[in-house]
Amino acid sequence: MVAAIELQKAGKNVILLEKMPILGGSSLLATGGMNVVRSDLQEKNGVADNVDTFVKDSLHIGKGANDKDLIRILGENSKDAYQWFKDLGGHLELQKGRTGGTTYPRQLYTPTGGIGRYMVDIIEPALVQSGADVRVNSKVVKLLQDPNGNVKGVLVKGKHNGIYAIEANAVILATGSYANNGELIAQKLPQFKGIITTAQPGSHGDGLQLASKAGAQVNHLERVQIHPNAAAGTTIMITQAIRNNGGILVNRSGKRFVDDQAPRNKLGPEILKQEGGSAFLIYNDQVVQKRKKVHEGYVKLGFVNTASDAKEMAQKLGLPEKDFVQTIETYGKYADEQKDPDFGRKELMSDMRGTLYAIEVIPGIGGTLGGLKADADMHVLDKNGKPINNLLAAGEVVGEWHGMDRYGGNAVTGNIVFGKKAAQTAIQEMR
Ligand SMILES: Cc1cc2nc3c(=O)[nH]c(=O)nc-3n(C[C@H](O)[C@H](O)[C@H](O)COP(=O)(O)OP(=O)(O)OC[C@H]3O[C@@H](n4cnc5c(N)ncnc54)[C@H](O)[C@@H]3O)c2cc1C
Repeated sequence: MVAAIELQKAGKNVILLEKMPILGGSSLLATGGMNVVRSDLQEKNGVADNVDTFVKDSLHIGKGANDKDLIRILGENSKDAYQWFKDLGGHLELQKGRTGGTTYPRQLYTPTGGIGRYMVDIIEPALVQSGADVRVNSKVVKLLQDPNGNVKGVLVKGKHNGIYAIEANAVILATGSYANNGELIAQKLPQFKGIITTAQPGSHGDGLQLASKAGAQVNHLERVQIHPNAAAGTTIMITQAIRNNGGILVNRSGKRFVDDQAPRNKLGPEILKQEGGSAFLIYNDQVVQKRKKVHEGYVKLGFVNTASDAKEMAQKLGLPEKDFVQTIETYGKYADEQKDPDFGRKELMSDMRGTLYAIEVIPGIGGTLGGLKADADMHVLDKNGKPINNLLAAGEVVGEWHGMDRYGGNAVTGNIVFGKKAAQTAIQEMR
């Protein structure tokens, strides 16, 4: 959508093809926020952030396996991406908690609810207004190439109008993840066979298959992001903002078992090790105040247990009363002292006093980290590292920028940064 808007602005004619009946993909489901380095909101709050620290934090979470060029480009252009969004009428706020143990608060969020819904609601009308030809229920089934391998269009399978070809001077793949391709996940990660995903139903990795048949390099499909918190028994993600704003994780013995602000790829496996393969996310009104709309949404969906104190909550959840009460009381003392001697949590933003809320959570695949190899201009590269002419990519279909784990909030920033970059490259190279 971002790329289409930019291309239309430059006077190009864009056809946007979406295989599902609605636009938005997994972007629509993003709940937490958008990472921006040196935003006006950071400055207003006295946060002296910089790109080097953002890169360091992203590499720390990605275990150094990130595409360093793409991560730096992301940091350098994040402020511009937020400005792009603001120019369309978007307005975000700074989330005070640091996500995944990073150096500074830099995630922006919307008090109106989930960031993805909010962004799509602002970007989609701009797309329509741009004059792009938007076609839903239209699945790309093949990339068309000339005898030299240059991409020259796509073959589309329309749900209501059959198969047809579109000739194009450039094709930008923004087909998202493969998180909902159970067969591929089981093949690459047998240990996670049958695990749920919180990604949208159309996330089958189509772009990887299309590009691979056109000669593209596809790397590290075994890298996925295990999100620690889906509501048990569902495929709905509970945003990590609840933990990062003060929520804690407790197991069936009524005890904490991990630094609740640790990176997601650490938390997921830790939860799977607990009895029943799940945990309880516990929080109080101090957390609710920070993400009220999101909490209210979870209450409406029936995920939230509410109790006036720890004793009542232990009874509701069937936890050993004495141990759970002690866990909550001890945490309250740690919060007073701002020190967590048990697990070294850095920010203790709630004291767990007053009314308590609990959601049972299970890990699931939140997104995927492998994919197409792209250069800094978003060209899709072939197996020899050379660009495939007229083929570009942006978003989650591109692999490696997140490394072994995604720093929460980097993806939606990347949608704007790399969507714009792909469009700029196409504009320059189109004849
Ligand atoms: C529950 C959840 C919460 C998240 N929260 C956050 C967050 O807070 N912050 C953050 O930064 N990131 C978050 N993410 C990750 C982020 O939302 C995604 O990585 C990102 O939005 C993906 O954008 P995309 O455009 O690459 O893919 P998508 O948004 O999935 O869009 C790809 C689109 O391509 C379509 N498509 C696929 N194949 C074809 C085909 N063959 N033909 C036509 N169309 C096709 C799909 O149907 C889909 O609509 C979250 C993800 C999930 C699932």
